[in-house]
Amino acid sequence: MSQIRALTTDILIVGSGAAGMSAAVAASASGASVIVADDRKVPGGVLTQCVHSGFGLGRYGKEMTGPEYSKEEFRRFDESSAIYLSDCRVLSLSSDKTALVSGSEGLSRISFRECILATGCTERPLWSLPVSGTRPEGVYTAGEAQEMIELGGYDTGNNVFILGSGDIGQIMARRFIQLGKTVVGMAEQKDHLGGMKRNQEECIRAYDIPVTLNSTVTEIHGSPHLTGVTLHHLDSGTDELIECDTLITALGLEPDRSLAEGLENDNGYPGWLHFCGNADFVHDIADSASTQGEKLGRNLACRIQSNGKEV
Ligand SMILES: Cc1cc2nc3c(=O)[nH]c(=O)nc-3n(C[C@H](O)[C@H](O)[C@H](O)COP(=O)(O)OP(=O)(O)OC[C@H]3O[C@@H](n4cnc5c(N)ncnc54)[C@H](O)[C@@H]3O)c2cc1C
Repeated sequence: MSQIRALTTDILIVGSGAAGMSAAVAASASGASVIVADDRKVPGGVLTQCVHSGFGLGRYGKEMTGPEYSKEEFRRFDESSAIYLSDCRVLSLSSDKTALVSGSEGLSRISFRECILATGCTERPLWSLPVSGTRPEGVYTAGEAQEMIELGGYDTGNNVFILGSGDIGQIMARRFIQLGKTVVGMAEQKDHLGGMKRNQEECIRAYDIPVTLNSTVTEIHGSPHLTGVTLHHLDSGTDELIECDTLITALGLEPDRSLAEGLENDNGYPGWLHFCGNADFVHDIADSASTQGEKLGRNLACRIQSNGKEV
């Protein structure tokens, strides 16, 4: 078996999205040694697949796309002294303040003084709902579809139905129209549209997307490929068959804290473990994830400089 490479750093940051990159820049500017590990080949996290504009107004005073925002953040990250391990997955964290990391160069064990989880969030899948029927091709979470289309260059079907009317569902609806698809409808279980007013105007009303409130999907049809869904009207109790070949679910996000599992005790998480960006709470705006990362990175570097005393 090949040897495990040993690395040491003041701060290990897991994730190089908006939060992780800004934490790294601030911590290294404040004198800490920093290693950032990310399991993707390029930095930026979800920013790289958000090709729409709406980023950077607070931080840069101008409208940018996700990749433009990411490029700007990466420029500062690249100029910092932080060490970047791309395509490297952090497999586990141990209470002796070490992380086991797997990458193209094999396994590494990184010893650290502080660790920041900037691991983003996970999407709630359709199968977490009581949905019957087949399990065909053509059903994707919004993030999966975005990654597939924007980063992978793959196509989806032409008649798209969207379950969930929050910002992400709305942004996906507009993107499908821009790609020349038909958005046959959007279902929302609440009695009002979710998301920000701006997205409601620019993504839903501007493109006349048919939204059915008080409704949800209860059955999936088709095999091996999706042919339709049963839309259940919660107010009348009636069902309607909607023909579609693509179902996109935008059912909400949850902070990804899987690496912290098993580290929590009666007093909470250990003092060396910190969360920022979507791993802490879901940030609707990237600026907010970046600002939080920056503040945390700076504070931890100052704590290290003052030999562990709170600053
Ligand atoms: C569809 C969509 C539209 C949005 N639209 C806007 C908008 O218009 N304007 C705006 O300002 N904001 C928008 N946002 C919000 C903004 O993009 C996010 O709040 C922000 O980018 C989150 O950054 P993050 O660093 O917390 O997480 P992420 O970007 O998710 O980064 C987490 C990184 O950690 C990596 N990772 C996870 N686990 C591991 C592990 N074990 N080992 C190594 N690496 C790991 C992941 O691969 C990823 O690269 C949108 C978000 C989405 C999803």
